[in-house]
Amino acid sequence: MVPAGLAVVYHFFPPSVADPWNLLAYVLFFVLMSFMPMNINGASTFLVQWVTVALFLKYGIFIEILVSQLSMLIVLYRSRTNEAQSLRIPFNSLMFFSVSLVAGLAYMAAGGKIGSLELFDVIVFGLIFQVVLVFSNQIIYQLYDYTTGNRSKFFSIDAIWDFALMLVIFPYAIALYMFEAYIGIAALVLLGVPFLTMTAVMKMYNNSEQINIDLKKAGVIGHQLASRLEVEEVLDQFVVQVAKMFKVEYAYVIDYRDELQQFLRIYENDQLESHKISPVSYTKGVAGKVIVTGESFIYNEKTDWEDLVTGNLPADTQSLMVTPIARNNKTEGVLVLASKKKYAFAKHQLQILEILSTYFAVSIEKAGYMQKIIAKSERCGLTKLYNYRYLDESLESCIKEMNEGRLDQLSLVIMDIDHFKSINDRYGHQSGNDILIQLADILQEEIGDEGTIARYGGEEFVILLPDYSKELAMLLAENLRKRIEKHEFLIESDLAAERQQQTVHITMSIGVSTAPDDSDEGMALIRNADRALFIGAKQAGRNKVAAYSK
Ligand code: GH3
Ligand code: MG
Ligand code: MG
Repeated sequence: MVPAGLAVVYHFFPPSVADPWNLLAYVLFFVLMSFMPMNINGASTFLVQWVTVALFLKYGIFIEILVSQLSMLIVLYRSRTNEAQSLRIPFNSLMFFSVSLVAGLAYMAAGGKIGSLELFDVIVFGLIFQVVLVFSNQIIYQLYDYTTGNRSKFFSIDAIWDFALMLVIFPYAIALYMFEAYIGIAALVLLGVPFLTMTAVMKMYNNSEQINIDLKKAGVIGHQLASRLEVEEVLDQFVVQVAKMFKVEYAYVIDYRDELQQFLRIYENDQLESHKISPVSYTKGVAGKVIVTGESFIYNEKTDWEDLVTGNLPADTQSLMVTPIARNNKTEGVLVLASKKKYAFAKHQLQILEILSTYFAVSIEKAGYMQKIIAKSERCGLTKLYNYRYLDESLESCIKEMNEGRLDQLSLVIMDIDHFKSINDRYGHQSGNDILIQLADILQEEIGDEGTIARYGGEEFVILLPDYSKELAMLLAENLRKRIEKHEFLIESDLAAERQQQTVHITMSIGVSTAPDDSDEGMALIRNADRALFIGAKQAGRNKVAAYSK
């Protein structure tokens, strides 16, 4: 359609080029401009438009279309997306053609003349050309969005940028056109220098704005990481937040341990994936390079890292940002961020990512310590069973669940070793402790996840059994009693002349109480079970299980 359209345009509006050298200079200048780093907020086409507008005013619609097509090709070549050029070139070509044609026809329909040097006419009709150009461009985008189903606002941020930039470049376009008509090619240099300077300043401003925004986001992420108390939470939070911040499709947290890379977190297309990736040698892949060198890297496109693959990155990956996760100058892992776009990352982003990775490493370490301390504060140092404090909290939360109807019943078993004092007296306190440790292991083994086991006092233990009826709890207690009675506890007596290994037997007395049958209060449940233990088991001759009865 575009070549045929061009032929038609040529037929109706043949260009008159009196000064081919000037035209050549214009086109070269234009190409130079197109390659200069001038894309602000993705609006690179727009900044070169001041030259196309001047070209239109001087040479007419046909030349303007040709040069716009050239600009389109350069922009597509330089742009950083991964979509097939076979699709993008025809689409954009047609779009640029239509926009140029509509704007050119509007100019002439309004009465504008090509090559006119009447300043007033040039400004008025030139403005018509420019405005129609911008708006028809926007309308075509809107139509395209409409057909693909994702409707966007007509006055989006990008569109407002376009309109604002138009106001900046229009005076430049008029100045270039008029100036060139009077002084020739020198006008290109005289106007080109300030224009390039302006765009460079805008780019720098844009950059520092971006750095500010990124730093702010990094600060927020750092705070959030620091407030997490669990290692798993820190990991989830980190990978998701960092992926969002840098707008990547893929993010991976890799642990470096025992000469292997282990994937701790896989984030792909907006979600955490649970599939496993088998570990790879620590020297392999882009992450391997980070481990070996201890440095972070940006890769702008696939060809830059293709020789380093382990095959774990999705096939459509282009840019990569890879940084070590280090603690005390030692690489503990690697963070890999991957984008489908080429040239997706700026250098300052890598530096911010390094800071974030340090935050992350510190947060992981802190959360690890916290978890250890919390675990310690909940357990008895000797038997590693839960302690009284934990039992108390756990009992209260069970009672609460029951009162709220989420738990039907709750049994509590309390057990006390018989004549334990005499064991201490005969074999020594250390041997007594060894028995307590072994007893704790038996309880763990028997109860497993069925209930909560706590060391309640010296040689007293409590087992909380949610959803256990009294009968079931009695059965379990009886099994325990029998198993302990038969068990040979291994001790090394430290009271005999020489230390020697020997086995001893112990028995236990056990009391059982159940909520809500016996009571619906935590403390009362313990008291009742204790009473059953004392009256029903100890006083009845020991080595017995007894249930509370009112
Ligand atoms: P019974 O319960 O059958 O009435 O007799 P008992 O001798 O076990 O009496 P009680 O339960 O009142 O005594 C607890 C004894 O357990 C006191 C102490 O010698 C011993 N004991 C308590 N805590 C520990 C401990 O941590 N280590 C050791 N080795 N002994 C302990
Ligand atoms: Mg006791
Ligand atoms: Mg006892």
